[in-house]
Amino acid sequence: MSKLEFPSSYIKFNCTGCPLEENKIVWGQGNYKNKIMFIGEAPGVNEEKFGKPFVGRSGNLLNIMLEKAGLNRELFYVTNIVKCRPPNNRQPNDEEKLCCRSFLRLEITKIAPKLIVTLGSTATNAILFNRRSMKLIVGKLVKTKIDLYSYLVFPMYHPSYVLRSGITRDDYLIFFLKLKRVICKIYLTQYKRLRWLVNEICKK
Ligand code: SF4
Repeated sequence: MSKLEFPSSYIKFNCTGCPLEENKIVWGQGNYKNKIMFIGEAPGVNEEKFGKPFVGRSGNLLNIMLEKAGLNRELFYVTNIVKCRPPNNRQPNDEEKLCCRSFLRLEITKIAPKLIVTLGSTATNAILFNRRSMKLIVGKLVKTKIDLYSYLVFPMYHPSYVLRSGITRDDYLIFFLKLKRVICKIYLTQYKRLRWLVNEICKK
């Protein structure tokens, strides 16, 4: 049975929502007050072991790319579409994604992100409610509606795609540099309350 814990014990209970309930839950983590969410697919073996999203090889590459672009992962909230590990690292199926969706909606409602960065096609399709090829939308800022509210979404390739040589690390970095420009623009125009963050990341 999976135990859920939302930031600051916002919610805490056991989940028997889908066949993945036997595995340990990996809830989203990070700074949610800055209102930028990274959303991946599902936890893997390392994520389940350490109880934290994106801590394996993919997470390591994500950290490297963020750092190279002058961004610090600690500034962002990182989560997954599905909170429990699917067996054999397979993609979560439609039933699992649907069952877990209420928890993602809860995170989105609570955080009210100014920007959602989706990592990979599973997360992108789930947030944009479509099945468009990543090639057509990667690195483009798009709008979506979730529960009647509009959100800005920046689709990115999943780090595991880069590890499988889908694109080079240099090409991947270009998306992170663009992401940084998008974040700075949002903070400068829509979220002026976080002036210190602009100084922290945008003036470098
Ligand atoms: S994947 Fe989501 S719905 Fe399924 S058991 Fe885990 S928390 Fe519950």
